[in-house]
Amino acid sequence: MKTLYECEHARVCGERIRCRKGYLLSPLSRNGSLDIQDLAEGKPLASDTCQQCGDFKRMGPPLPEEERGWIVIRNTGPATIDKQPQ
Ligand code: SF4
Repeated sequence: MKTLYECEHARVCGERIRCRKGYLLSPLSRNGSLDIQDLAEGKPLASDTCQQCGDFKRMGPPLPEEERGWIVIRNTGPATIDKQPQ
C-alpha cells in the first residue's frame, strides 16, 4: 500500500496536503489537495492516485497506524475533537 505518510513527494502546505509532482490526490477538491484534518486524524491517506503512481518514492518503512495522527475523534454524541495528552 502506497500512502502519503511514506512518499517523499507528499507535502503539507498550510492546511492542505499536496503532491509535489502535481498529481491530484482527491477528486473532491478543486486543486486535488487533501485537508490536513485527514492527517491529524491519522486516516490511511492511501489515495487511488498514489496506488497507481509510478513516481512514488518511499522515505522509509510504513508508519504504524498507532503513530499516525495527533487528535482523537470521540464516537459518542455530537462530533467533538480532543487533543491527545502530550
Ligand atoms: S505516490 Fe505519486 S501521487 Fe502520491 S504523493 Fe507520491 S508522487 Fe504524489
